[in-house]
Amino acid sequence: MSVVGVLALQGDVREHLVSLAEADVLARPIRRPEELAEVDGVVLPGGESTTISRLLETFELLEPLRQRIKDGMPAYGSCAGMILLADQVLDGRPDQHQLGGLDIVVRRNAFGRQVDSFEAELDFTEVGPVHAVFIRAPWVESVGEGVEVLARVPESAEAGEAAGRIVAVRQGHVLATSFHPELTGDGRVHRLFVDMVRSAS
Ligand code: GLN
Repeated sequence: MSVVGVLALQGDVREHLVSLAEADVLARPIRRPEELAEVDGVVLPGGESTTISRLLETFELLEPLRQRIKDGMPAYGSCAGMILLADQVLDGRPDQHQLGGLDIVVRRNAFGRQVDSFEAELDFTEVGPVHAVFIRAPWVESVGEGVEVLARVPESAEAGEAAGRIVAVRQGHVLATSFHPELTGDGRVHRLFVDMVRSAS
């Protein structure tokens, strides 16, 4: 059975562990480099990207995690996790570290400029209609070549300047969503990621 780790330094770790277990993998929290070495894929949870980035350094996980993602280990980031995986961040803190791996530019707290949280029905490629919950979420300002856009915020009066923004992407073995499928009990995005882990291992 595939083993998928959830980076457990800060954020909504437990919800991701539950969603992964429901997708029939062994789900484990990761806090140490030895634990990272034992997993076939990793989930970076929602939380606060600046705090997680600082803790990654403290727990000596920043370089090992960067390296494993570079070497092809599947990774999925939701919200703060998406920010960590982006090659470039707008409105980030100057001392914020990036794991990188996704050739995208994200804008931190982009939805937060309008409201702190926002919900929308999205059409998610390969998954179908998804009820998406955004909490002080980033959006993707631009994507490089080789990045697939999997979902955008639909046009609606409530969406305001978020309408049309990219909120789910995949580049090879790296998946990211601005929203939190782990909070809505909808296991389909985690299953999409688990399929990526299975086909990589
Ligand atoms: N605003 C947070 C950040 O900048 C992300 C919020 C979230 O993960 N729900 O990291």
